[in-house]
Amino acid sequence: ERKRRLSDIQFFHAQHRVALRNCGLINPEDITEYIACDGYFALADVLLNWTPAQVVDAIKQSGLRGRGGAGFPTGRKWELAAAAEGPVKYVVCNADEGDPGAFMDRSILEGDPHSVLEAMAIAGYAIGAREGYIYVRAEYPIAVDRLERVIAQARQYGLLGRRIFNTNFDFDIDLRLGAGAFVCGEETALLRSAVGERGEPRPRPPYPAQCGLWGKPTLLNNVETYANVPVIIREGPAWFASLGTENSRGTKVFSLAGKVLNTGLIEVPMGTTLRTVVFDIGGGIPEGRQFKAVQTGGPSGGCIPERHLDTPIDYESLKQLGSMMGSGGMIVLDETDCIVDIAKFYLQFSQDESCGQCTPCRVGTKRMLEILERITQGKGEMEDLDELEELSREVMDASLCGLGQTAPNPVLSTLKYFRDEYEAHIRDKRCPAGVCRALLDY
Ligand code: SF4
Repeated sequence: ERKRRLSDIQFFHAQHRVALRNCGLINPEDITEYIACDGYFALADVLLNWTPAQVVDAIKQSGLRGRGGAGFPTGRKWELAAAAEGPVKYVVCNADEGDPGAFMDRSILEGDPHSVLEAMAIAGYAIGAREGYIYVRAEYPIAVDRLERVIAQARQYGLLGRRIFNTNFDFDIDLRLGAGAFVCGEETALLRSAVGERGEPRPRPPYPAQCGLWGKPTLLNNVETYANVPVIIREGPAWFASLGTENSRGTKVFSLAGKVLNTGLIEVPMGTTLRTVVFDIGGGIPEGRQFKAVQTGGPSGGCIPERHLDTPIDYESLKQLGSMMGSGGMIVLDETDCIVDIAKFYLQFSQDESCGQCTPCRVGTKRMLEILERITQGKGEMEDLDELEELSREVMDASLCGLGQTAPNPVLSTLKYFRDEYEAHIRDKRCPAGVCRALLDY
């Protein structure tokens, strides 16, 4: 019992909830509970006392970067959309969360949906848009149902619709349901899918801020990014910027999963080390087994070994390690996980989800998958490792969108840090983790 309590204390101690501030504390379907927690005060303040340029400036000063994965400065995006030619512009929320094991956005939509509506209205005021759309996966029925209810509530309270807070500002939000294609999380594919076209990425420029929904300037941010906005307005950009590191401000939500004692949704200041997340918040590896790696960034990311666990979590540091921040999936692996099998799992995911437009992504990932398959069956050769690296470079360099450009990361990072495991499969016909069943027969 004492051990469990200690573990609970550690789980909360290193966390700081900003985006998740209301999740689990309020009834998400009751607008009065959101208002009681200072909800819609930021919108009121902005509409009554701020100019749109001041709002954009506050978001810039806060240092907020896109939480969907790429980490583009949010204020810069708002500035571009505000500067684009009107009069018709749109605000879009990317709620097409699709990384395996990731449920950050889902939890915010289900636990605090009004925070997203409020942020979108603030964004609409800042850039001069009157309409917003939330592109949400149809596989999130609770989130969809809740969004429908809270949009109706916000309209009823005059917080969406005509002349909000008796000003000249009109803004309303509608939903668009995605059918579960991972590639529709890519912004240009999402915008196409939202207007009923095939969800395929297109080259940029033009960027969505210039040419988005129905060819009009569009501001697109993900759920977690928006959830930070009302607090930035209320507490001030300096307060937000005081959290995190110099280049990665604020906090980040992760869904911590895999071989740790405490799994679940966590939120930590940027700059927290991976070791703190795995061993303090996560409580370490169960049953005394050995830690092997932590996988961040989902299919776009990589596996980080023990010797890099003291790395602070921020966009640049994770990239330097060959991984990615991604949208916030974090999976802990122990000695019973086969690293080749893990790389194969993520590559298979990207292969399945490739839209097939570009040959390097469509065919290159397939060739890579065949090689990994051979290796896990004990039929690999040492030259296969060089070929995997060569194919990875080609797929990354010649793919149109982020899916293809990052799909080889799980393979490259595991080759970099766990080459000995690949070699054991090939040379010794042995899976060190005892996972690859075909090798047990050798
Ligand atoms: Fe489609 Fe892959 Fe090309 Fe992206 S890189 S556009 S997913 S084929």
